[in-house]
Amino acid sequence: MIPRIAEAPSLEQAYVDFLKGLKHSGFEGQIHTDYADRVVLSTDNSIYQRQPQAVVYPRHRDDVVKLCTLLGDPRFRRVVVAPRGGGTGTNGQSLSDGIIVDLSRHMNQILEFNPDERWVRVQSGVVKDQLNAFVKSHGLFFAPELSTSNRATIGGMMTT
Ligand SMILES: Cc1cc2nc3c(=O)[nH]c(=O)nc-3n(C[C@H](O)[C@H](O)[C@H](O)COP(=O)(O)OP(=O)(O)OC[C@H]3O[C@@H](n4cnc5c(N)ncnc54)[C@H](O)[C@@H]3O)c2cc1C
Repeated sequence: MIPRIAEAPSLEQAYVDFLKGLKHSGFEGQIHTDYADRVVLSTDNSIYQRQPQAVVYPRHRDDVVKLCTLLGDPRFRRVVVAPRGGGTGTNGQSLSDGIIVDLSRHMNQILEFNPDERWVRVQSGVVKDQLNAFVKSHGLFFAPELSTSNRATIGGMMTT
C-alpha cells in the first residue's frame, strides 16, 4: 500500500455555486479548489490550521469588485471569505474554512509616486521591502519596522 494523505473534504454546495457564479461574472484571476492550494493556505505563521474550500487570486481591482458584488447576493449569505497577504500574521487571522482571497500573487503593483508630496499609491499586495526599495533613493522609508518585512503586505499590515 502506497502511503497517502487523506483527500480534502468535498466542497459545500453553496461554495460550488458561488465559485461558478464568480467564473461567470468575468472574474479574470485564478480560482483553485485543488487539494494542494487548500492545504498550503490552511496554515499561516500561527499555531492554527483551517482548511479552506477554495483559494482565489484576483488579478486586479475589478476582480475584487466582482467578488464583493457576488457576496452581496442573498443566495451566498453563508459564504465567507478571508483576504490574505503574506500569511505572516501570528493569530490565524488570514485562515478560513471558506474562501481565501490571496491578494499577494497579482495585486502587487506600485501605481503612483509623488516624492515631493511624499505619498505613494499601491495595490494592497505590495510587500513592505518592495516599497522601501522603491522609495529609498528619495530618502524615504515606510514605517513601521517589522521583522517579516520581506513578506508582509500593505493590506496585511493595515488590517493587523
Ligand atoms: C516571526 C514573525 C515576526 C513578526 N514581527 C512583527 C513585528 O515586528 N511587528 C509587527 O507589527 N508584526 C509582526 N509580525 C506579524 C505580521 O508579520 C504582521 O502582522 C504583518 O503585517 C502581516 O502582514 P501579511 O501581509 O502577512 O498579512 P496576513 O497574515 O496575510 O493577514 C493578516 C490580516 O490581514 C488581512 N488582510 C491581508 N491582506 C488584506 C487586504 N489586502 N485587505 C484586507 N485585509 C487583508 C487578513 O485577512 C488577516 O486578517 C510578525 C510575524 C512573524 C511570524
